[in-house]
Amino acid sequence: MDKYDLIVIGSGPAGRRAAIQAAKFGRNVLVVEKGGRVGGVSVHTGTIPSKTLRETVLNLTGWRERGFYGRSYRVKDDITASDLRARMHITLDHEVEVLEHQFARNKVDTMRGQARFTDPHTIEVEGEIGEVLKFTADKFIVAVGTKPFRPDYVPFDGEYVLDSDDILDLADLPRSIAIIGAGVIGVEYASIFSALDVHVTLIEPRDTMLDFLDKELIADFTHQLRDRGMALRFGAKVEKIEKHGPGSCEITLEGGRSIRSNVILFAAGRMGATPSLNLEACGLEVDHRGRLKVEPMTFQTDVPHIFAAGDVIGFPSLASTSMEQGRIAACHALGETAYDPPEYFPYGIYAVPEISTIGMTEEEIKERGIPYECGVARFRETSRGHIMGLDSGMLKMIFSLKTRRLLGCHIVGEGATELVHIGQAVLNLRGTLEYFVENTFNYPTLAEAYKIAALDAWNRMPPLEE
Ligand SMILES: Cc1cc2nc3c(=O)[nH]c(=O)nc-3n(C[C@H](O)[C@H](O)[C@H](O)COP(=O)(O)OP(=O)(O)OC[C@H]3O[C@@H](n4cnc5c(N)ncnc54)[C@H](O)[C@@H]3O)c2cc1C
Repeated sequence: MDKYDLIVIGSGPAGRRAAIQAAKFGRNVLVVEKGGRVGGVSVHTGTIPSKTLRETVLNLTGWRERGFYGRSYRVKDDITASDLRARMHITLDHEVEVLEHQFARNKVDTMRGQARFTDPHTIEVEGEIGEVLKFTADKFIVAVGTKPFRPDYVPFDGEYVLDSDDILDLADLPRSIAIIGAGVIGVEYASIFSALDVHVTLIEPRDTMLDFLDKELIADFTHQLRDRGMALRFGAKVEKIEKHGPGSCEITLEGGRSIRSNVILFAAGRMGATPSLNLEACGLEVDHRGRLKVEPMTFQTDVPHIFAAGDVIGFPSLASTSMEQGRIAACHALGETAYDPPEYFPYGIYAVPEISTIGMTEEEIKERGIPYECGVARFRETSRGHIMGLDSGMLKMIFSLKTRRLLGCHIVGEGATELVHIGQAVLNLRGTLEYFVENTFNYPTLAEAYKIAALDAWNRMPPLEE
């Protein structure tokens, strides 16, 4: 039986970073991955495929040029599902190659197969041809991620009624799609399909979507979706889902409203991928969504030598945060110095248009009773925006009236997920309004919107006390 200092279960963003960090400390590490290739949901069914799909759609449709050439402008007229898949496979191969190289370079052992605990320090891994190997370790990091939630009332068939894994294998582009769940995944796919001129109906039992975002941003985003012809059916539960034949699906909502579409994407929630781990053998329990509870600063579970990181511990369930959690968990597991996870991290929602945000929303600031002022810039006010033909996009910053510190930065529009990092730096370094007013920005750039928004707030803020 092989013995390791650390065994990491799962090779997604959390597992990968944990393993490499541990190897850099000179420990011997094994990563066990049950998927065909390393990389996790992030590389194979989540972040990277969906973002590659988005990029391909924006390129082939000519979406970014429509501000100049009109809504009917197209780069390619008949976009097919195989056009969309081609670029995805190339990107995924590169990602896997880089990751395998990182593991090899850092001398991280990898084992393909499904891991299950047999006692608190031992796992059993079933290989491809049914062979069973045992491994022990002093420490473990569970980074098994999540799987799409598939409730019984949804007649999934992998062809017309799909989850967010199946959608990547669509044989043909549908003419219409109904998407259930207006969370990040649902909203991203809804806006991507709508950019492809597929008729989209987005269904959400709650009255609102993406509640954790600033409301002014969501109002702007919602307006853009409606303006493109997307149907939003909010505030009604799904009562029934029926398939009447190939490409003919029907959803009945509470209250009787019915929605017909070629394809349905069910994107309402994910479950921790913990059932296969036999966690009883190591004394761990999961919650109703299959997730593990950890100590928020160290990522230690209730069993002291077992740590957990990434989506399996729940919120915020991002590849970006999972990577940091994996690294910090490895430091704590191995008794090395670790930094604390930052209080504020950015959220990137790769819808069309992009949304990105960091810090407090206006609603949270009001709730906390902090006196504040907002500054808003529209991308069409910037020269870069004119050059790019942008007719939408906004950046909003919120400052404390008392300290003039930046409290929140919220962006919707082209480049939002990159632009937000300027706001992130100022916010986490406790910078104030003066940073934006007093510094020179490259011109012409969309980053100029920071200066415009800061000046907008400055106009209404009391002068800086000497
Ligand atoms: C459609 C979609 C789009 C997304 N877009 C973004 C985005 O734009 N930005 C962002 O930051 N995040 C995004 N995410 C979230 C992101 O993919 C996840 O936060 C991230 O993948 C979580 O990483 P992880 O390491 O926790 O787990 P995962 O990436 O889920 O990896 C877990 C791995 O563990 C393996 N495993 C499970 N059980 C076992 C076992 N018993 N034995 C061995 N191996 C096992 C699995 O096969 C898997 O490879 C998206 C997710 C989805 C679904």
